[in-house]
Formats: sequence, structure tokens, C-alpha cells
Amino acid sequence: MTQNGTLPARHRLFRSGFAAINAIGADRWLRPFTLGAGMILMFHHVRPWQDKAFAPNASLEITPEFLALTVKILRREGIDIISLDDVAQRIMGNPGERPFAVMTFDDGYRDNLEHAAPLLRALDVPWTLYVVDGFASGRGSLWWLDLERVIAAANEVSIFLAGKLQTYQTTSLKQKYATFDALHRRLKTGSEEQLHRAMDELRQRYELDPNSVVRELCADWNELRSLAKDPNVTIGAHTLTHPILTQCDARKVEAEIALSKDAIEMRMGRPIRHFAFPHGDAASAGAREFRLSRESGYDTAVTTQPGHIFASPTADLWSLPRVSINGLHQTENALRALLSGAAFLPQAILPSKRRA
Ligand SMILES: [Zn+2]
Repeated sequence: MTQNGTLPARHRLFRSGFAAINAIGADRWLRPFTLGAGMILMFHHVRPWQDKAFAPNASLEITPEFLALTVKILRREGIDIISLDDVAQRIMGNPGERPFAVMTFDDGYRDNLEHAAPLLRALDVPWTLYVVDGFASGRGSLWWLDLERVIAAANEVSIFLAGKLQTYQTTSLKQKYATFDALHRRLKTGSEEQLHRAMDELRQRYELDPNSVVRELCADWNELRSLAKDPNVTIGAHTLTHPILTQCDARKVEAEIALSKDAIEMRMGRPIRHFAFPHGDAASAGAREFRLSRESGYDTAVTTQPGHIFASPTADLWSLPRVSINGLHQTENALRALLSGAAFLPQAILPSKRRA
């Protein structure tokens, strides 16, 4: 899909929703009810737009220009951009007169250092990078990107699933998207073991070096230590290997949450106070994971459950929702709907549902 090309149906719906919210001025008049104390924004890749026809992960990347526009609109709307270290005070103590926003970036991509860091430094914006211990060490699997690469290059994709070799035609763009969507869904809902077995076999069949994508795309420890000299930068933990935590057994989930804190602290030579759940939706992080992140000594933990944050002395700091800045919606309309909270109206009316 190109940036201005055909959007999948559900995203066409979002786009008309964002446009409608702005057309009736709802981002203004709903704001007192929906904005809350503030929000934690979530980003992934930041890099110049690559005009490729097949881009099934395009929702996970924005351009540096759109990042700059986001900062500009936050400031124009009177929203304080604060460090993650100051969030607890804003939610549980004195919320302050102005709403807050926190900028968070997941996975530790090198493009964040190349394209986001200089821009945020110039604009004096605090931000957090959630790092995966394995990725920064040059090991691991960004399996959704490996899957994209295999499908992009092949006219037919065969994959071993549930003990059977299954073959998909991937000649046309439509077939490539359908295959990606089907396999992504299937791999994410199966067990961790099945996911890795299927992806290892797929990489072998299509001669993709298992660690090559991670080494190409993720910053290493030297780069991260150099980045962290910037006082505006906070490094957070995002596990050892980026698994779907709800599918891990008790020992593994504890290691992924608690040991990643120790490992990243040792590598970075500084305390690590904040954690992000990989994938982070309701199916990937639940009560057990929230409890473990609290018991492991993190000050906060963030999900990818959508929503703004409402001030409360009893707020749960280990299952915080975030506002995803989606690469398929790099428009001022979308930003204003998301930043006002109007896009999350059901959550604002029923705040208890937010953590369901
Ligand atoms: Zn992640």
C-alpha cells in the first residue's frame, strides 16, 4: 500500500471517523470530558517514507515531518510534553492545570536514533525508548518484518503450520496482503513455540538469516549508551526477547519482565524504571503480567490498549493505556481526534472498561 493508496476497510472507517470528529468540532467540545489528565503516545519506526507497493507493517511507521507536526500540535493545544518519570505525580498527585503527553517509542529501532532523536533534541522534547535486551544484542526475531520480506520477494509462500506444509499464492499485491494478514493472525494467536518453529523453518526455506533483520534495524548497546547521554532520553525495558507474554509459562514470563530490567540496567549502567508489554493488547498482557511488572520494581508499565489517562489517587500505574500514532493516519485530523481523546469516547464514559 502506498501512503495515499487504498486503505484496508477498517482504516477507511477510522479515517472517516477522524474527519467527522473534526468536521463537527467534537475534538473541541468533547475535550473537557475525554482528555483526562493526559496521554502516553506510542510510536515505532520514524523514517522518511519508502514508497513500496507492499507495506503491511506501514501502521508502525511515521515520517520525521509527522513527528514534528505532532510536537507542534501538542504545544499549540496547550499540552505539556513530560518525561515518563513525572507521570505518576500527574496521575496520582497534583495533576497540574495543563494536560500532559509522554512520547514513547517501542523496540529500539535505529531509525529512532537517526531521525527522531535529532528532531526531538532540537525541539527540547523528553522521550522514552523501550529496548529489547536481545534485539540490542543483535539476536532475535522481528517476525512480522521477516514475514513481510519473505512474502514481498516470493510468488508463492510455503510454511509449516500445525505439522502441515501450507502453500499460498503471493503473485499479486492483493494475494500478498491476504497472505500476510492470514499468517500474521494465525501466528499471533498460536503458541510462542509454534510461532518460532514456523518462522525458523520459513526463514530457512527462504534463506533469510535469522538475526539479520534485527541487526539491520535495531540499535546496539553502544548506540544506545551514546543516545542515553541526552538528558531528555529515558531508556525503558521491553523484555528479553519480545514474546507474547500471556503465552509464556510462569518461569519464562518472570524472566522476561524481571531479568530484562537487570540485563538492561547492566548494559546501560543506569536504573531502568519503566516497562512496556510486547504487543500489549488485552490478549498479550493481563493481570499476571501487570502484577509481575509491579513486583519487579518498575515505576510504570504501559500496554497498547487505547485510551487517555484519568487522574486518580488509586490509579494502576502498571497497566497504563497508550495512544498509538498510526502510520496509516498521518493527518492533522487524526492527531486532533486522538489528542483530544474524542476518538476514545467509549473509554472516557466507561473508564473501568479501559483495563478490561
Ligand atoms: Zn514491541
